[in-house]
Amino acid sequence: MGVTKAMLGSPAVAGEMVLAGVGELGDSRLENIETMRAEGVEAPMMLIRSPMISQVERVVENVDLSFNTEIEVIRALSRAAQRLGETHGIVLMVELGDLREGLSPREVHEIVPLLLDLPNLALKGIGTNLACLNGVVPDVQKMSELSMLADSVETEFHLALEIVSGGNSANLSWALHGPNPGRVNQLRLGESILLGRETLDRQPIEGLFTDAITLVAEVIESKVKPSEPWGEVAQTAFGDKPVAERLGNTPRAIFALGRQDTDPLGLSPPLGFSILGASSDHLIVDCGHRILPVGSEMVFQLNYSALVRGMTSPFVLKVMNRQGREGAEPTDRSTS
Ligand SMILES: *Cc1c(COP(=O)(O)O)cnc(C)c1O
Repeated sequence: MGVTKAMLGSPAVAGEMVLAGVGELGDSRLENIETMRAEGVEAPMMLIRSPMISQVERVVENVDLSFNTEIEVIRALSRAAQRLGETHGIVLMVELGDLREGLSPREVHEIVPLLLDLPNLALKGIGTNLACLNGVVPDVQKMSELSMLADSVETEFHLALEIVSGGNSANLSWALHGPNPGRVNQLRLGESILLGRETLDRQPIEGLFTDAITLVAEVIESKVKPSEPWGEVAQTAFGDKPVAERLGNTPRAIFALGRQDTDPLGLSPPLGFSILGASSDHLIVDCGHRILPVGSEMVFQLNYSALVRGMTSPFVLKVMNRQGREGAEPTDRSTS
């Protein structure tokens, strides 16, 4: 599954994912799914965040399947599916220790018979999500726990689970280098596809670009200033107390970019430059020995946090460029 949420459900990117071979698309936001549907993206789509009970009608209307952990929501989905004359697929999410969403394995066994009694629903499978909140690694043991749960649910209730959804980009090392994947037949991949890195250690993935997405910003002030502020120093706009190094006078540039647009800590400037700080609308960069002209642009690399916020900011212009795809060499061109 290609996960589109970090691209704000961009229909262009979703279309590229489908062209590149993903079997289905997933997003955590119904709004993104509605955008992709409205733009004619055809692939099967799944809502990978538990639906809001206030949105169940829209969920049933727009997605084939949703990930769930709450019986109340599942009941509401059933009622909405009855009203709309649809069948809605359910994947039950299982808690395996990262402490984000999920039912315990025992609760899965308790909820399945209730779900099977509800009209217009189809139990499609089980899934889990690790690494996101507490960094718990999806290792051989966690994945075999999930496989065993799939087997035990099938045996107890005499049914077949079509989907065993093992996790996100953090599962790639396990999937590519681990032993037999057992029952796991789906991974939900966002960051690894978009940024070209696995997500446990953020190592580049062979054959993928790590700079397919960049953020370009423009210089609005360029001056030589002392590295240390003067005057009495209290909290900043964002409650920090920055510590400046004593480096004398250095050329610094201000870019028209700030915390409203991205996560400044998730940006990497080119070699020789370093980010000194950011407020809502200003990003301050130490330029080393260079003076950047006002109006010049700099290309930053983004981590996942910078990417999601960049895509979400209405101030950041998104430009999709398919040129240069053919014959380009995937290499790690990251800088720092
Ligand atoms: C965001 C998300 C993913 C994708 O995670 P990546 O680390 O970007 O691959 C997968 N599953 C769920 C439930 C998610 O919320």
